[in-house]
Amino acid sequence: MADDCLFCRIVRQEIPVPLVYSSPDCVAFRDINPQAPTHILVVPREHVASLNETTDAPMLGKLSLAASEIARAEGIADSGYRTVVNTNRDAGQTVFHIHLHLLGGRAMAWPPG
Ligand code: 5GP
Ligand code: ZN
Repeated sequence: MADDCLFCRIVRQEIPVPLVYSSPDCVAFRDINPQAPTHILVVPREHVASLNETTDAPMLGKLSLAASEIARAEGIADSGYRTVVNTNRDAGQTVFHIHLHLLGGRAMAWPPG
């Protein structure tokens, strides 16, 4: 855990963001600046700065499995959704606690911007 990390503080609920999902390994909550009708961040409880800083395959798998479970609960599993992990500058990562974006509820373009 990192004392000054925003997502660690949300995991600890020092910042009381409503959780849409909680497990022993990860939590999920709605993005403050949603880019789609459904935009949820899935975050491991453990502090890991980015995909570059982990080899924890079970943790990474649990993020994806949590996203698919949340997508079903949100009613977007059949219509479709996108999961995104931004890593470092060129991808636009702004919070350096790894997280998976779950986006859905509208058609999305490809390639992404
Ligand atoms: P990144 O750009 O690092 O891939 O994604 C960080 C995401 O965290 C952004 O989509 C941003 O809107 C979201 N975010 C930043 N601060 C907060 C916050 O305090 N609460 C919530 N719910 N989302 C946040
Ligand atoms: Zn953190």
